[in-house]
Amino acid sequence: MAEGLADADLASAEAALLKRARTFVDEHVEPKASERSRQGASSQALMREAGRLGLIGVQIPRSLGGLGLPFSSKVKLTRLLAAADFGVAMAVVNSHNVVEHLARMGCSDHISRWVPRLLTGEMTGCTALTEPQAGSDAAAMLTQAQAVDGGWRLDGAKSWITNAVHADVLIVYAQTQPGGGAAGIAAFVVDAQATGFERAAQPPQGPVSSIGSGSFKLAQYQCDGQDMLAAPGVAFKDILNSINGARVYVAAMCCGMVDRALALASEYGVFRQTFGASLHAHQGWRWRLADAAIDLEAANLLVDHASVLVDDGDHLRAQVAAAKAKVFATRMAQRHLAELLHAMGAQGLSEQHPLTRHLAAAQVATLVDGSTEMLLERIARDVQGQADTAVGLTIHSTQQTKDQ
Ligand SMILES: Cc1cc2nc3c(=O)[nH]c(=O)nc-3n(C[C@H](O)[C@H](O)[C@H](O)COP(=O)(O)OP(=O)(O)OC[C@H]3O[C@@H](n4cnc5c(N)ncnc54)[C@H](O)[C@@H]3O)c2cc1C
Repeated sequence: MAEGLADADLASAEAALLKRARTFVDEHVEPKASERSRQGASSQALMREAGRLGLIGVQIPRSLGGLGLPFSSKVKLTRLLAAADFGVAMAVVNSHNVVEHLARMGCSDHISRWVPRLLTGEMTGCTALTEPQAGSDAAAMLTQAQAVDGGWRLDGAKSWITNAVHADVLIVYAQTQPGGGAAGIAAFVVDAQATGFERAAQPPQGPVSSIGSGSFKLAQYQCDGQDMLAAPGVAFKDILNSINGARVYVAAMCCGMVDRALALASEYGVFRQTFGASLHAHQGWRWRLADAAIDLEAANLLVDHASVLVDDGDHLRAQVAAAKAKVFATRMAQRHLAELLHAMGAQGLSEQHPLTRHLAAAQVATLVDGSTEMLLERIARDVQGQADTAVGLTIHSTQQTKDQ
């Protein structure tokens, strides 16, 4: 049960959220998706509407103006948004997560200053770990936080950060003990208007402009002691936990994109005639769609399984389930988006369809919130752990037999 809501209330609040999200997609996201992509525009212009419809407050407590819904509602929302535009889904959920983080760990000043305006989409937020020199190995980050009178001074650079081209408030991770690794990393609330914050003057990085990915520098940026949102020893563990959840919704977004592509290709196959018959009438053609339908269903099941574990707070099992869901779903999207695009012939490449945008987004999905290789390592540790346990049990029972 989320925030004391009865199951029936929860289901109806979630259904209402998804209905509003559908309207947002139909009226605001889809009509201009290709134009956004052509112009290299971020999602900033959409954030107020997303806020007005409550899409930025899914998991935020109702006492702070949010919906108080569980993680799985956010997963369903992102799946729906990404079917139209992966970058918009990422922009909305990343701003949402900043609100959630501030609501959970911020001081009263952070909450009153930022939360209401982030919730309405008047302001946007981002979370910054990645640096030009450190991506997968985030604990090797070089951005430094030095204690000064009354607070901290931050110096360093961040790159490839979702929403960074427009974010007003940034949660920035920095090293407080040079060489201290994960244990020395703390999280700070950074105000983009303050002296010492320098946003790179460039359009969004990468092939999915709506994600608003950008870079910034901190040069002698001064903040108060209370702006340390999470202390060393806590910050890195906490963000890894959040990233774990993020893997589930990135996997769900891949499902949303493939679902949309499958529907488009299937509809196209009803009308398009070749050699005197519809495309569906050609066995070789329709098997391609059948393969996509199988893998899509499998990916959706992995996502739903991981979602339930996150909702239940079963962090250990959720870690592995989330990693499996993301590896499977991103690979599924890379393979089937290309196949479905091909199934529509030249028409699949048309700007009116999202397939080329989705294909680029699937590539981005393999990197954000844990690259495929990092997740394979997590899954491999689990596989080995199970073998170690089984071998340990065998040795133990063999020993017991000998002793008898
Ligand atoms: C559009 C976009 C938005 C992003 N948004 C954010 C954001 O909001 N916040 C944020 O902090 N970061 C963000 N990122 C950064 C993302 O988290 C990194 O891209 C990711 O962590 C990988 O880091 P890297 O790109 O530096 O690759 P690297 O770490 O340089 O790795 C390069 C390649 O080598 C592989 N590799 C690395 N180490 C190993 C190993 N030990 N064994 C095998 N293979 C290995 C990687 O998987 C990858 O394929 C975003 C990235 C993109 C593309």
